[in-house]
Amino acid sequence: TKRYGKNNYTVYSKELDLNTDYKLTIERDLKSAISNLEFMLHYQPIVNLKTGEFNTMEALIRWNHPKFGLVSPDDFISISEESGQIVSIGKWVLHTACSQNKKWQDLGHPPFKIAVNISTIQLQHHSFVETVAEILAETGLDPKWLELEVTESILMEDNEALKDSFLKLKAIGVSIAIDDFGTGYTSLSYLRQFAFDRVKIDRSFINDIGSDLNGKAITSTIIALAHKLNMGVIAEGIEEEGQLTFLKEEQCDDGQGYYFSRPLPAELHKFETTRGDGS
Ligand code: C2E
Ligand code: CA
Ligand code: CA
Ligand code: CA
Repeated sequence: TKRYGKNNYTVYSKELDLNTDYKLTIERDLKSAISNLEFMLHYQPIVNLKTGEFNTMEALIRWNHPKFGLVSPDDFISISEESGQIVSIGKWVLHTACSQNKKWQDLGHPPFKIAVNISTIQLQHHSFVETVAEILAETGLDPKWLELEVTESILMEDNEALKDSFLKLKAIGVSIAIDDFGTGYTSLSYLRQFAFDRVKIDRSFINDIGSDLNGKAITSTIIALAHKLNMGVIAEGIEEEGQLTFLKEEQCDDGQGYYFSRPLPAELHKFETTRGDGS
């Protein structure tokens, strides 16, 4: 088994040492990142492909490290999951995202959902559902404007506690989307058993739409499956017109990607132009 402690490698590897140092540094610096206000959220719209209006903003965390500058979540989320720090980071994300969405509503924007990425570790924490309920109460956000994005990997586990959490979250009125769909091993019975609201087709398939036939086949199959199960479908990572045309032809509901907008800080979003007349 791989460990990050000092004496677990018998063969010297400089690369491994650098890796270990980096991880330990990240883990150490994460401890003060919240109190030092080094995290921020960027927001990326999810757009209705028929009307062109957006209905959701996904919150994506950014870490402005005092020495390294902007660190990508791919570089620190997994480390924070191993150390358990994701629980407090995840709370910060939820609180900040819900509070931002409430602010947008209070400013008079037509309401839309805020989508928040939830780590497997967070979701399995015993007080997760209470935390969500508390944050909604504190921020005053109506639960129907919160969507949790859960990665597919978790759904292969036959976990009673997890099923219980999903049911409780539904009961509160929060919606749930399955992220990175198509890359994991969700059993079809799991999909049938729970009324997930939406699936997000993984970016890798959208990326393949233009280049090979399998990307198209997989994408249209996921769309058909989701619709048969009464779930909405979001295609992520749309960058080109051709991908959009194909997704519209296949009746994909929503889309997200650089084609529409990159993730941006809250204050840089111009709603009037992206949301049409808002009626
Ligand atoms: P994800 O949830 O699948 O998010 C989509 C990623 O694709 C984001 O990267 C986004 O910036 C990027 N993206 C969006 N549109 C395009 C596009 O058209 N082309 C390309 N090439 N990329 C696009 P980001 O922000 O670096 O986040 C990476 C991953 O880190 C996320 O993948 C998510 O798994 C995780 N993550 C981000 N924020 C959070 C968070 O607050 N909590 C947790 N637990 N995980 C987070
Ligand atoms: Ca996501
Ligand atoms: Ca995704
Ligand atoms: Ca991902």
